[in-house]
Amino acid sequence: MAPKDESRNGNDRDPAEHRQDGGDSNSSRQCHRRHCDEPAQFVVLERYQEETGKGAVEAEAALCQDHTDEESPANLDGAYDDYVFYVEPISNG
Ligand SMILES: [Zn+2]
Repeated sequence: MAPKDESRNGNDRDPAEHRQDGGDSNSSRQCHRRHCDEPAQFVVLERYQEETGKGAVEAEAALCQDHTDEESPANLDGAYDDYVFYVEPISNG
């Protein structure tokens, strides 16, 4: 994933993620994995230092329970003082 860059002039937000199918986007997230239609139940976040020295990178994914179970720290090579790997339950109302 590319680091966020807000220094470009012009539009500050990508309009692409404005509603896709008219569902309410607030409460229901789907599992991030392809070919998985399960509702996401956890957010898995890993923050690590990129090799290139660009700084910290945060990789976040909303996953169903099965796929969360399969997750594990994948970037321990980039571990540093503020390295984070956590799983947070999504509260669905
Ligand atoms: Zn899944």
